[in-house]
Amino acid sequence: MVEHFETFVPLLKRSKGFEELKKEVIDQDLCSGCGNCSAFCKNIDLDENSKPYLVSDCTLEKGSIKCSLEGTCYDACPMVPYDFKKLEEKIFGSVGKDWIGNYIKIVAARSKDKRILERCQDGGVATSLLIAAIENNFVNAVTIVKGWKFWKESVKVTNDINEIIEASGTKYLRSSTPNAFGKNLRYFRRIAVIGTGCQIAGIRKFMTESSLKNLIEKTKESEVPVDVYLIGLFCYENFPMKDFEETIKQKYNITLEDIKKMDIKKGIVYIYTKDGREIKEKVAKALGKVAPSSCKLCKDFTARLSDISLGSVGTKAGYTTVIIRTKKGMELFEKAVEKGYIEVSEEVNVDEILKTAQSKLKYYEKEANRRKELGLRIVENW
Ligand SMILES: Cc1cc2nc3c(=O)[nH]c(=O)nc-3n(C[C@H](O)[C@H](O)[C@H](O)COP(=O)(O)OP(=O)(O)OC[C@H]3O[C@@H](n4cnc5c(N)ncnc54)[C@H](O)[C@@H]3O)c2cc1C
Ligand code: SF4
Ligand code: SF4
Ligand code: SF4
Repeated sequence: MVEHFETFVPLLKRSKGFEELKKEVIDQDLCSGCGNCSAFCKNIDLDENSKPYLVSDCTLEKGSIKCSLEGTCYDACPMVPYDFKKLEEKIFGSVGKDWIGNYIKIVAARSKDKRILERCQDGGVATSLLIAAIENNFVNAVTIVKGWKFWKESVKVTNDINEIIEASGTKYLRSSTPNAFGKNLRYFRRIAVIGTGCQIAGIRKFMTESSLKNLIEKTKESEVPVDVYLIGLFCYENFPMKDFEETIKQKYNITLEDIKKMDIKKGIVYIYTKDGREIKEKVAKALGKVAPSSCKLCKDFTARLSDISLGSVGTKAGYTTVIIRTKKGMELFEKAVEKGYIEVSEEVNVDEILKTAQSKLKYYEKEANRRKELGLRIVENW
């Protein structure tokens, strides 16, 4: 049922470290705050905008074969020059014919658990799949994003079902689930990670590139083989916490603690507060300046490298669109249906998903042209 990592894979020669990551990605506003670089390195931390920085000396000796026993930040980053189509081909056997990517099946679904339906973002499928994964022994633990506070307080690896239910709902803030995954892999060897396309892409690199895969194996403190389920979320853009917090405070006199739910649909942002206020504004007007260049330059709306991708686009309110991509994803989804965690409807508007993915490409073109004129690097990894 599960694919195991190989126990020995030769290290590939690598040559770059944090210095280059900073120069090529972080200082160029190309960092998406995904947290893959910090996942396995004790020298890197992330600030309140999820921007990586060194907390102690980088132990890499330039040109050496490996940087440390802990990890390698440059190679894990989804924003350094890299061919994700090649990686997609390696995983799926072919490159997806359009921006939905490879898939076995696309359906709409929703949770059957009232507690989840009361709190979730769309149909509660994400929460239900995470719970099904634990309760049916697919994994030992899952990543969650509990709240709107700084990611360090919010992002967790857990197997507590109540905590997973409480974490339902989308927080449109960079929330470094790969960092939590990496830091906890030695304790929970079988983990389901939920995240946006860039987060999933980085973890796929870890799981597929032999040099990185080998580093994952070195976190081993038990004989349990590593096994990872990747649950991707559709993503148009994601906001750095500190910048987002300052903007909503200044524009609407709202703090992060005030937010009950936030949604972005068809270019409009809706913020519902705990005391009953409702903000409705065009995203570009409300948060245009907060969106980082990295997100504008991202083409992967549907998290193509996941086992299962989830989103709201393509289904009616109260349902989650589910793109089942891999055999592993299918097994988890089928178990969740069979055991009554979720119910399925076949009604999905695939054109709507493609339309949104296309509009993200236009966003890309605009930003790429702007950066080219300024002589700045652009990301062309897809
Ligand atoms: C930053 C961001 C942008 C998105 N943009 C779009 C979009 O443009 N169009 C679209 O169709 N869908 C988008 N989504 C996905 C959508 O908002 C829902 O997450 C998805 O439809 C699943 O809904 P659900 O009811 O099944 O999830 P729920 O059952 O409510 O569970 C949501 C899960 O996501 C986790 N989570 C919450 N915030 C984050 C985060 N920041 N990073 C990682 N995990 C998180 C929670 O811990 C929870 O486990 C976005 C999601 C994120 C995180
Ligand atoms: S030790 Fe390795 S992973 Fe850590 S900062 Fe240096 S190059 Fe990056
Ligand atoms: S994009 Fe992710 S991996 Fe790359 S520097 Fe930023 S946080 Fe690190
Ligand atoms: S838009 Fe792309 S780069 Fe930005 S958070 Fe989403 S998946 Fe990552």
